[in-house]
Amino acid sequence: DSFDTMELRSDLLRGIYAYGFEKPSAIQQRGIIPFCKGLDVIQQAQSGTGKTATFCSGVLQQLDYTLLQCQALVLAPTRELAQQIEKVMRALGDYLGVKVHACVGGTSVREDQRILQSGVHVVVGTPGRVFDMLRRQSLPADAIKMFVLDEADEMLSRGFKDQIYDIFQLLPSKVQVGVFSATMPPEALEITRKFMSKPVRILV
Ligand code: AMP
Repeated sequence: DSFDTMELRSDLLRGIYAYGFEKPSAIQQRGIIPFCKGLDVIQQAQSGTGKTATFCSGVLQQLDYTLLQCQALVLAPTRELAQQIEKVMRALGDYLGVKVHACVGGTSVREDQRILQSGVHVVVGTPGRVFDMLRRQSLPADAIKMFVLDEADEMLSRGFKDQIYDIFQLLPSKVQVGVFSATMPPEALEITRKFMSKPVRILV
């Protein structure tokens, strides 16, 4: 199988190949196309399977680059993971001119506000700082059309459940949701029931 047959934007394909990927992994083969179609997708996959590039490609494919507004929000359980996702999103979207910002705790709130004010297409962050930015309206939610929860089980076990629900309440009601999780504990299933409509389930 190949990335060429996924009907991706040519500048996204260039970014994928320039990053060094030659062939899609199993999760990428099954997950990129439904995500790009705007479907809600639950992907049960361990890290190491290529899940980051799956949702990054789906997000990068669907952004409107003529609009410098936050259109995708990705949540991750730790600062390090959020910053790692930020780097992958930026690298794969290099030829598309994507603007990505990581909103994580332990950094300057004012600096976050300055960068968000200057305009971004994608925010990747940890739940606490992201909720703070949404609550202060430093991060406008009205153009957000994609919401990704990475390592959902890990976020729940770190006690982020209420914050994830609070964030979801602030997003437009028709937001596309992608949930990535190695395991599906009851709280993760509850999220998929409450946030998603007719999700596609992919198990790798
Ligand atoms: P992840 O599961 O997203 O944490 O990715 C695990 C590792 O696999 C990372 O080092 C990626 O750069 C790498 N990777 C992801 N997709 C591919 C691919 N299609 N070809 C080669 N390496 C990949």
